[in-house]
Amino acid sequence: MNRENAKPFAHSKHYLYFWQKYSDQMNENVLAKLKILAESAKYDVSCSSSGTVRRNQSGALGNTVGGWGICHSFAEDGRCISLLKIMLTNYCIYDCAYCINRRSNDIPRATLSVSELVDLTIEFYRRNYIEGLFLSSGVVRNPDYTMERLVRVAKDLRLVHKFNGYIHLKSIPGASRELVNEAGLYADRLSVNIEIPKEENLKLLAPEKDHKSVYQPMRYIQQGILTNKEDRKKFRHVPRFVPAGQSTQMIVGATTESDKDILYLSSSLYQHPTMRRVYYSGYISVNTYDKRLPALKQPPLVRENRLYQADWLLRFYQFKVNAARKSKVDDNTARMQSIKQLGV
Ligand code: SF4
Repeated sequence: MNRENAKPFAHSKHYLYFWQKYSDQMNENVLAKLKILAESAKYDVSCSSSGTVRRNQSGALGNTVGGWGICHSFAEDGRCISLLKIMLTNYCIYDCAYCINRRSNDIPRATLSVSELVDLTIEFYRRNYIEGLFLSSGVVRNPDYTMERLVRVAKDLRLVHKFNGYIHLKSIPGASRELVNEAGLYADRLSVNIEIPKEENLKLLAPEKDHKSVYQPMRYIQQGILTNKEDRKKFRHVPRFVPAGQSTQMIVGATTESDKDILYLSSSLYQHPTMRRVYYSGYISVNTYDKRLPALKQPPLVRENRLYQADWLLRFYQFKVNAARKSKVDDNTARMQSIKQLGV
């Protein structure tokens, strides 16, 4: 699907219907914020929901059906529109060159309070517009301050509203272990975006970030999941911790990394048992004025697609990176021959 035609939730028919029918009942201010924050969230692709089951319980709201394709995540814009995909705020203290929400951009900004976001999610869920929530945020004040608010949204949904839908939270790079651990009690999936595969290139485009602040929370998530697995073997009623595992996203084409560099990193990430998906996001030129970025007329979608094909070979056919690259993943016949040679 051509991303130029991609429709974020804020432009979808559900949103328009919601706006027309309920805007008189809901605070218009909240709906205006929803429009801004759903628009700001559309560039994050790491939101596929899968692999978790939450059964309906007496007195609880809804359920989550497990398995692949749990939600209509790739309809219309190919981007999980049946999740309410939104940011808590699009204000940000950081200035990442590749991001529309960077602090130096003059764009409409908004922040939802925890209760506004919880109410919106419940309203959308009750009306069957969504099957869950994909929540990210710009960084305000500091990583822990922001993460604490994300956690409160998930906690209120689960504990106050008995929400049993799917929740995917972005963990804020640099957030503390305590907050990541708390998030894991309420979210089905947590993700921390690597964004730029090589640290020197990340430093070039996002000087306020480093890989340590990404890999550290990834480690916390992994340790939490593995410990939880052991605990649940001993005590059946121990609450689940991030049952759908973790994911991450890399931007393709904003920096000089080759497909080989990207796939080697993916391959090493998949060595970790809790890493379920690596997403590849062809770089969209949102900040053309920044000379550190390449002048791309359109996102490298073919490259993005090939990376997904190679990723598939890595995950499901146990290809090594070199074999996946040599299998000419853009060539179906060659790919099938490679698969046959492996006797799969
Ligand atoms: S921290 Fe996130 S939201 Fe803020 S500028 Fe960087 S990528 Fe954008």
